[in-house]
Amino acid sequence: MQEISPIAIQIGPYQLKSLPTGIFGLDGGAMFGTVPKVLWERTNPADALNRIQLEARGLLLNSNDKKIVIDTGNGADFVKKYGEKLGSKFAQIYNIESATPSIINCIKKHGLNTGDVTDVVLTHLHFDHAGGATTEREGQLAPTFENAKYYVQSENLKTARHPNVREKASYFSANFEPLVETKKLTLLDGSTKDLLPNLSVQITNGHTVGQQIVKISDENTTVVFCGDLIPTSTHVRLAWIMGYDLDPLKIIEEKRTFLTEAVEKDWYLFFEHDPHVELAKVEADGRDFKVTKKFRLS
Ligand SMILES: [Zn+2]
Repeated sequence: MQEISPIAIQIGPYQLKSLPTGIFGLDGGAMFGTVPKVLWERTNPADALNRIQLEARGLLLNSNDKKIVIDTGNGADFVKKYGEKLGSKFAQIYNIESATPSIINCIKKHGLNTGDVTDVVLTHLHFDHAGGATTEREGQLAPTFENAKYYVQSENLKTARHPNVREKASYFSANFEPLVETKKLTLLDGSTKDLLPNLSVQITNGHTVGQQIVKISDENTTVVFCGDLIPTSTHVRLAWIMGYDLDPLKIIEEKRTFLTEAVEKDWYLFFEHDPHVELAKVEADGRDFKVTKKFRLS
């Protein structure tokens, strides 16, 4: 097993800090699509219910002017959010460690309060990315970060409001309607350069309609927050895609284009769901790709 090296990364004005909101479990088969269990269980051992361990990891970009959070984990308040029946089952099904609003705990570890966060970029509105975007405040669901501007693609909000049958169990209005109601949500129409200083977003539609991956870069260093385009370091291989992906052939092509550029330009990839590896560098491996170095942010 390759060693995971600690690394400090500064890009433009930002110090990058990992926000591990908590381990949860998803079905191993669903996480690797058509890849047989005998292959994926070597790197991702399953529990008795066939669930593998995943992290719900956000990223903090911390500068004097801005405190930017990218994705917010599973969140909490499940009963309040999803109703009595589903809410109490929810933490159990997904083996979510605790019902505390852990994105809040994560930013507190970096000396920040919810009111300090200036911007929240959501890759997409699936519950394991946007669950921490809202929380219960004075008996009501409200934006977790009360002063922040939130960003999502308008196409993704559209699909979240009218989900197809396959994604119905992943989009919950409680995670995004409070952002719309309080006018905190800015809708983006497509890939956007310089959405914020040193930060661009790029559309990928293979996982869900209107997902955006987030690129943070200056003249020396680029980190890409891969979201569900490449959820773990094991998913760098082109054919290792999720059963959850809406359009398997499209996501493979999106990965190929993205990884070709990542290799050429020596980008760091940041993984939201890998239980251990936070970042990696990649290289071409014949017609495929592989991880060469693994890192965690210090
Ligand atoms: Zn997703």
